Amino acid sequence: MTVISTNTPTSELQRLDAAHHMHPFTHGADLGKKGARVITRAEGCWLTDSDGNRILDGMAGLWCVNVGYGRRELADAAARQMQELPFYNTFFQTTHVPAIALSAKLAELAPGDLNHVFYASSGSEANDTNLRLVRTYWTEKGQPRRQNVISRWNAYHGSSVGSGSLGGMKGMHAQGGMPIPGIHHIDQPDWWSEGGDMTPEEFGLERARQLEAKIEELGPDTVAAFIAEPVQGAGGVIVPPETYWPEIQRIVKKYGILLIADEVICGFGRTGNWFGSQTMGITPDIMTIAKGLSSGYQPIGGSILSAEVAEVISGTEFNHGYTYSGHPVACAVALENIRVLQDEGVIDRVRDETGPYLTEKFQSLTDHPLVGEARIVGMMGSIALTPDKASRAAFAAEAGTAGYICRERCFANNLIMRHVGDRMIISPPLVISKDEIDTLISRAWQCLDEAHAQLEEQGLMEPRRSV
Ligand SMILES: *Cc1c(COP(=O)(O)O)cnc(C)c1O
Repeated sequence: MTVISTNTPTSELQRLDAAHHMHPFTHGADLGKKGARVITRAEGCWLTDSDGNRILDGMAGLWCVNVGYGRRELADAAARQMQELPFYNTFFQTTHVPAIALSAKLAELAPGDLNHVFYASSGSEANDTNLRLVRTYWTEKGQPRRQNVISRWNAYHGSSVGSGSLGGMKGMHAQGGMPIPGIHHIDQPDWWSEGGDMTPEEFGLERARQLEAKIEELGPDTVAAFIAEPVQGAGGVIVPPETYWPEIQRIVKKYGILLIADEVICGFGRTGNWFGSQTMGITPDIMTIAKGLSSGYQPIGGSILSAEVAEVISGTEFNHGYTYSGHPVACAVALENIRVLQDEGVIDRVRDETGPYLTEKFQSLTDHPLVGEARIVGMMGSIALTPDKASRAAFAAEAGTAGYICRERCFANNLIMRHVGDRMIISPPLVISKDEIDTLISRAWQCLDEAHAQLEEQGLMEPRRSV
């Protein structure tokens, strides 16, 4: 058999990919016909594909490459650790230096008294841990009836059976027997699409109060926890109205239920602070972390627990863990990633300089005829495409049609911008420069122009009639 390498012709790589590789969240047969884009290298904010195109990565991979691609220090940290101790587990009363050092560092960075870390290799696994953990917590506290967990429609918490059930993606629930029992969903704070005639402030309160109603409906002594992303990511970068989080915080306090902030995207600088909870003024009992924790250089995630939650769980044997919980190479790389974020002042720059610059430029996209609103926090933003700005109308065509067309234009113009329904979203590496932001915005404008022309040509600029 011939060796497959980056020198193999693109068409052959695509053929083999279609023949043997199943892609996540993909219609395999459609992709097989078209051929997947083959990414071969990356540096800073730029990807290179097998045809030699240079592509601006407006998504930091999958929201994760916070320090940018090609950081030698992270590769060196991995190589050093692999030579010294490539693996050892943290079961059976053992530990190792990378897990100790990373845990101490995370305890220092995390807000309040969040100071104990339970490791996983992904955000999905970490949220599975959280589900079992909050239920175990209440059982240990002598309140075993508290088993219900409340989440939100259109939330994303992962793709395993537990985390996918916690999430509120109806397309996922429709396949394979989700959600599992004991998980309940309330509506999301998406004012643009669902706010009707309410002001954003009224709407934020209304959506938050659904939590109180759900707790009352289930019975306050049966609810273990509420889980939410500080800012929804995969749901379309839904930035909640300002009234939302304070009201949620009041309600979880009133009923004494645990608050899990899923920081998998928001954590490690994405919103201009170390954690989205800090940006949104949230005081969680547990935070889920992954993605930016290692800038995606190694698969690692985890749950950071408050001192109180950790103390209760430590009072029993928690029969849970992963072979790779606290994997030494992943921990070493995460530590080095955090060192880079800290020493280079990456997050301060997002908060004070490049974040505000991106915000200003990104909001100017609302001048485009196709764009209704732009919402952005730090370096995660979304624009809503609409056929009629004044009424915030959706398209008459099936949801996602316009978004898909725009995404295809981005693809053709060497810009990675993703669509969620008819929203276009960005989440670039946190090290993106002002020049690169200018390039991102001008390419986005070009893609919007092309998408707009195509939508008009195909008669797709019709607004949906409300019923
Ligand atoms: C990506 C994501 C997850 C799942 O993380 P994986 O590493 O893909 O398992 C969980 N929560 C949020 C908010 C995410 O964005």
